[in-house]
Amino acid sequence: MQLIYINDRLGYIKSSVNIGFILNENKEAILIDAGIDDENAKKAYKLLKAEEIVPKKIIITHAHADHFGGAWWFVKHLDTEIFSSLPAKSILEYPLWEPIYLFSGAYPPKVLHQKFFLGKKVSVDGVINPGNINFENINFEIVDLPGHSFGQIGILFEDYLFCADSFISYEFLTKHKIPLNSDIRGTLSTLGYLKNSNYKGIIPSHGELFESYLDVLVENERIINQILEFILEICFKKISEIELLNLVYDKFAISIKDMATNVLMRLSVLAYIGYLLDENLLTVEFIDNQQFFVRS
Ligand SMILES: [Zn+2]
Repeated sequence: MQLIYINDRLGYIKSSVNIGFILNENKEAILIDAGIDDENAKKAYKLLKAEEIVPKKIIITHAHADHFGGAWWFVKHLDTEIFSSLPAKSILEYPLWEPIYLFSGAYPPKVLHQKFFLGKKVSVDGVINPGNINFENINFEIVDLPGHSFGQIGILFEDYLFCADSFISYEFLTKHKIPLNSDIRGTLSTLGYLKNSNYKGIIPSHGELFESYLDVLVENERIINQILEFILEICFKKISEIELLNLVYDKFAISIKDMATNVLMRLSVLAYIGYLLDENLLTVEFIDNQQFFVRS
């Protein structure tokens, strides 16, 4: 974990999930995300304290446990206030929703009650919407970044955008192969928006500051289009959901050996299926109690 200043008013704590910060003249901070757990939050605070930075508020970019699990620690020890979008608030205040939706709405088994899926509950002090905002005498903008997770937002300050998980860096593309996105239309719209932007830099939650970011966005978009094309290609004939998932996993060299990876990858592929159904490029049929997909 390392604290990095981008300029004297903003920076981030580089970690497996970055924690951004923007500062007013008194070094009072708005943090962007809170790390995964107490341990993580405590370590991040130590780095902030060494710089005499005082966290006042935390904006949670989206309700994935690795981004908000540490928020409780900041509230308990520093009385920090928490802000999020409305969809994120419902999960921050009832974190079991995350493993519940991963397990198709059924009560999730214990194996999914792990810190990557189940963050510590925290109350949200205020819901924030896209637009200009002033906290602690700092003017900044909340930007809508749909696609990765419902209600995901970014924070734009002094021409730098904290863009959460709206794209993933090369390293993570190589590791995960299929980026986790819950809404492909939203993801493509966010990538298009970012491609047309001309910020001084963007800071993803996983990875480092990108000062030039067009290439990585194009690469994210290329992979999404490749997956869409592949699904359409294999759906030249009726194909069951299980077959479809297996063919996608084979094509992208994804290995599934546990329930956690299984639910995440299934969700990722379902997002493509949902998108293709809504675009009228796929249709669904039921034969012998099985769901089949076929190209329209
Ligand atoms: Zn995420």
